[in-house]
Amino acid sequence: MKPKGTKNSFTERVINEMTLKMPSLSVNEGMARAAVAAFCSQLDPNATEIADIKCAVSEAVTNSIVHAYKDTIGIIYITVKLCSGNLVRIEIRDRGCGIEDVERAREPLFTTDAASERSGMGFTVMESFCDKVRVYSRCGKGTTVTLFKRLAGR
Ligand code: ATP
Ligand code: MG
Repeated sequence: MKPKGTKNSFTERVINEMTLKMPSLSVNEGMARAAVAAFCSQLDPNATEIADIKCAVSEAVTNSIVHAYKDTIGIIYITVKLCSGNLVRIEIRDRGCGIEDVERAREPLFTTDAASERSGMGFTVMESFCDKVRVYSRCGKGTTVTLFKRLAGR
């Protein structure tokens, strides 16, 4: 196990943070993505890093809208923490239906909603655009997805 505070442990000191709370309306997906990107701009990310963050946030928020609160409207909470070492930590939380088997859900091409022509690539996209993705879920209680991204820094 790595000791706390080493380069890849993602336990750095928080410098600034914000929390957003919104109903799971699809119109809020773009707003959430833009708001998170605007907040992260304090760390002076490059264009690719901003695009990566927007894309990963978009996938996680969309999942809360279309899966967690499938036939209903619930609340989505997003907390962004800017940490020392140019680390961005973004938590997307819902109190929706939860995920039965998280390991399986994270597999590329796995979807429970093929009828809506979903491709099952959301988690794979998040993983490819972030350094680490943590998923905590309980059936009937909800899901928390935490995205970690370390910016190159300039
Ligand atoms: P795509 O993202 O390509 O449109 P998808 O949403 O089905 O398709 P993933 O984002 O990888 O693919 O998610 C895989 C599966 O995990 C989903 O089909 C769904 O069953 C489940 N899932 C993901 N996020 C949540 C969530 N917040 N609440 C409940 N279930 C979720
Ligand atoms: Mg998805």
